[in-house]
Amino acid sequence: MSVPFDLHTHCTLSFDGKSTGEEMVQAAVRLGMMHYALTDHVDLGDFPDPDFDLEATVTGAAELIPALRTKYSDSIDLIYGVELGQAVHDREAAAKLISENDYDFVLGSVHNIRGHDDFYFLDPAKYDPVKLLDTYFDELLETAEWNGADILAHITYPLRYFSGDYGIDIDMSRYSPVIDRIFITLIKNDKGIEINTSGLRQKLGKTMPDAGMIKRYHDLGGRLLTIGSDAHCTDDLGKGIAEGIQIAKECGFGEVAVYKKREPQFIKI
Ligand SMILES: [Zn+2]
Ligand SMILES: [Zn+2]
Repeated sequence: MSVPFDLHTHCTLSFDGKSTGEEMVQAAVRLGMMHYALTDHVDLGDFPDPDFDLEATVTGAAELIPALRTKYSDSIDLIYGVELGQAVHDREAAAKLISENDYDFVLGSVHNIRGHDDFYFLDPAKYDPVKLLDTYFDELLETAEWNGADILAHITYPLRYFSGDYGIDIDMSRYSPVIDRIFITLIKNDKGIEINTSGLRQKLGKTMPDAGMIKRYHDLGGRLLTIGSDAHCTDDLGKGIAEGIQIAKECGFGEVAVYKKREPQFIKI
């Protein structure tokens, strides 16, 4: 079965990418995608990967993605995206990055909170997950209020580790008020959220966020929704997109967004 789109993916321009941009585009064409976004990491703030050359990623993407878009223009709509991490930790760098690059699509992420490394590295035996999540959602709200990204990515990201890897049962009702404020802020600003399907193929076993939160977003008036696999290699490309579409429908969505020059275009599902 063909996969119509995938709005969140990485190639070797990202520190953790495994397949080249061209391999990813060719795989997307093979899957029959109409719309496909490369959204390589640009993580700002205090915890850059020591082996990661941010400037090389930015300039590499600026050269590679438009060239691939031209080369494969008959086969696929290649969307020039970026996954911008921790924008509010360095608003000046974030603004410069967005103004200097001709992005179609900006995903906003929080991979680490101020003073801590990526959640990937945080052992919950040493830190209180509840307190970390309090700060995480405050920073996510700050990112929504910053209003520089089109879509907030994987809004339950820390659960990939706390719930998925460590099996900790987190009572998410504690965070309902702040998550509502995040949704209301996004809706007011004509911004949205994604269904990140990577959790379906990881220990978490569900999308980020899960159906309950997506339904809440819809009920509050949210209409801008993208779906992405967060694939870092061709094997994972398009994985879970069909399930993501099904969840979107069940939550009341009749269409999802793809982005071109920072403007949403709606695709019926
Ligand atoms: Zn991410
Ligand atoms: Zn990603």
